[in-house]
Amino acid sequence: MAIKLVAHRELCHGCGNCVVACPVNASKSTEIAGGKGTSGDVEPVILVDDGAIKINRSKECKECATCVKACPVGAIALEVVE
Ligand code: SF4
Ligand code: SF4
Repeated sequence: MAIKLVAHRELCHGCGNCVVACPVNASKSTEIAGGKGTSGDVEPVILVDDGAIKINRSKECKECATCVKACPVGAIALEVVE
């Protein structure tokens, strides 16, 4: 059993709150932390892609749940997996 970050793209409205809130994203780029998106070769842990949340670098996620708390619609979650 393990905890895994899961994206529910069908619920997401692409606000980007979680992307901005993620401390790992912020450590990679002040632009991401400032809500300006990505640039160059920065690879965020999570990002909004085609209007919905995408987990881009799951192995870099620290499972801190900051993104989960930042999401108003429950579209990103830490879930128990087998
Ligand atoms: S749970 Fe992972 S993706 Fe979410 S804010 Fe924490 S480090 Fe970032
Ligand atoms: S997962 Fe939630 S906080 Fe993140 S972009 Fe989608 S709706 Fe916004």
